[in-house]
Amino acid sequence: MIPYSRQSINAEDIDEVLRVLQSSHLTQGKEVELFEDAICDYIGCSYAVTFNSATSALLAAYSVTEISEGDEIITSPISFVATSNMFVNLGAKPLWCDVKLDGNIDETRIEKLITPKTKAIVPIDFAGKPVNINAINAVATKHNLLVIQDSSHAFGSTINDKKIGTFADMTIFSFHAIKPITTGEGGCVVTDNEEFAKKLKLFRSHGMVKKELWNSDMISLGHNFRLTEFAAALGRSQLGRIDDFIDKRNAIARYYDERFAGHKLFSTITLEENSRSSRHLYPILLHPFLHCNKEEIFKELQAKGLGVQVHYKPIYQNSFYKEKFGELRLEVSEDFYRCELSLPCHQEMSLEDAQFVAETFLEVLENYKHRGCSF
Ligand SMILES: *Cc1c(COP(=O)(O)O)cnc(C)c1O
Repeated sequence: MIPYSRQSINAEDIDEVLRVLQSSHLTQGKEVELFEDAICDYIGCSYAVTFNSATSALLAAYSVTEISEGDEIITSPISFVATSNMFVNLGAKPLWCDVKLDGNIDETRIEKLITPKTKAIVPIDFAGKPVNINAINAVATKHNLLVIQDSSHAFGSTINDKKIGTFADMTIFSFHAIKPITTGEGGCVVTDNEEFAKKLKLFRSHGMVKKELWNSDMISLGHNFRLTEFAAALGRSQLGRIDDFIDKRNAIARYYDERFAGHKLFSTITLEENSRSSRHLYPILLHPFLHCNKEEIFKELQAKGLGVQVHYKPIYQNSFYKEKFGELRLEVSEDFYRCELSLPCHQEMSLEDAQFVAETFLEVLENYKHRGCSF
């Protein structure tokens, strides 16, 4: 099975992890700081604060802005549940904004959702394609809202050669095993705001500051959301290869784009001229004509060795959210969920693998061209 995404670990990564495992500090040594400095250099931001997952990083980011009970946040339903879960955890209410056919939040629909209770906009760079962050920032500035970007898919993505992570008040990245780079589990928040960075560090580690000798003081409520030293060493080693990973994924995506151009039964997602995508996912959108066959197509592709996946069921469709906030249907999000399939696209694939994926996919779809659905 060729999975839709997977990690690549080389001998250098392993050596780095072993070096730290054999050192004096498995946690709270120098490695986390070195990794954070390397992230700042790569992204071009002032502060990077790592966490044991992007989920913890999201909770930390929301918490340090003092988002609380009754506040509202405008976000995208086409994301992993954690994006919304973590502010619901603080008592805030998600206002889900519909998306565009590239899976990214529709920036033209945000303003209509703003109320006096709205505190922040939380967009997601779906599949690694940057959201229209300039338009989102303009709405946020006009209404005095924060922008917290969940860029869990988009480490290394750029707009006009500027890295994602330099546009929003805070940006979250995930280092989960199959995200653009990995620490096994892990994540981080990047920001240029010193106050946020200080609070994020307190939140990560019990809210404690060192005083003199044995004396420390707990000045705010915190958690233990720290990354281990060996995970940080792995992350720093991976960071050295991120551009190579992204080039490889883009080569596969370009091959698919060419091979699939103008196809009648499905479409691909195009990028803006001035941007680069990490290509965390390679999504295709089935023609509405094929919607009713999606389950069968999915099963057939899996049986033929293609580890396809669907990203994502709109968050509001989950039982927890239906019970808590009632039923919701956003038209484009519903359509997107019905048509989307993520094809294998990762740095461990060869071009021959990509050829195999493309040929198998086209062959399977061919059998459905006379089996359209009625509306
Ligand atoms: C993976 C992911 C997360 C959660 O990341 P973890 O590191 O697994 O906690 C959050 N948001 C999005 C958009 C993701 O894809």
